[in-house]
Amino acid sequence: MLLESLGDVKPDHAPLRLVQHPEPALNPGEVLLRVTRCGVCHTELDEIEGRTPPPRLPVILGHQVVGKIEEGGQAGQRVGVAWIASACGRCQYCLSGQENLCPEFKATGRDIDGGYAEYMKVRADFVHPIPNAVSDSEAAPLLCAGAVGYRALKLCNLQDGKALGLMGFGGSNHIVLKTAKYQFPNSLILVFSRNPQEREFALSLGAAWAGAIDAVPPEALDALIDTTPVWGPDMEALKRLKPGGRLVINAIRKEEVDKEALLKLDYASQLWMEKEIKSVANVTRQDVREFLGLAAEANIKPDYQEYDLKDANQALLEMKQGKIRGAKVLRVD
Ligand SMILES: [Zn+2]
Ligand SMILES: [Zn+2]
Repeated sequence: MLLESLGDVKPDHAPLRLVQHPEPALNPGEVLLRVTRCGVCHTELDEIEGRTPPPRLPVILGHQVVGKIEEGGQAGQRVGVAWIASACGRCQYCLSGQENLCPEFKATGRDIDGGYAEYMKVRADFVHPIPNAVSDSEAAPLLCAGAVGYRALKLCNLQDGKALGLMGFGGSNHIVLKTAKYQFPNSLILVFSRNPQEREFALSLGAAWAGAIDAVPPEALDALIDTTPVWGPDMEALKRLKPGGRLVINAIRKEEVDKEALLKLDYASQLWMEKEIKSVANVTRQDVREFLGLAAEANIKPDYQEYDLKDANQALLEMKQGKIRGAKVLRVD
């Protein structure tokens, strides 16, 4: 499913086109994967609609790839490919465990062709074995939504018993909730969503409370992870933090539609008292591997809906329309 030109995802505009594409030829140090599943991520909407345009076109999107190695490695091994496709290995960031910040960071489905295809090739040292306890379909959403969510949760510096807020409750935060309940069993988790079905979903997964974006929760929060694409929710989030609390924004780009919300910032109530705002960028290989191990150990399974690869446009449209319960996965085999 090839992206040839940028444009809005709409009922009458399908930006991805099914084409026959030659099987990629391998370079030294690469493996060839026969793709079985690929997750659909909100970032792909940002890429298609031009908020974070891919550096080249045409491109094959998809950065939550599960497949079997066909060439260049242990044949038949089940592996995943995440957003991180390459980093230099030499810079100050790579050498300090922050390869996600490497200036030569390359992303899957962007700098290299991704998993919306039968085959993909990738650096052998950037694939991750999938634990036996996790199926292909379950693994796909763990590779971005799950792994970046895990990184966001790490950046919260939460301790067990401290209160965590989740703003937005789609593909990533629903996995964060499951992870946080395992890692921080005594912490209250409070969920904010504009969508009543997402709030129901959060409560069914064990959230202590769920309310609208601007609702007042029963308790102030030590940390909050925002996955929404707009600014208004961050202004609400800052009001809900305790002194010293941290807002972690897990989004690659924000939309411009409500940017004026930022001008209503009240320093005294929303930022003073050592409140912090931090963004999350990319993932490291260690994040991905730690999280896959944790998911197997804690039986963390994403809720997901499957679509055939040829229906990728429909999956993207439904994601844009907010018809989300958990994650979306393309079936490629
Ligand atoms: Zn993603
Ligand atoms: Zn580097």
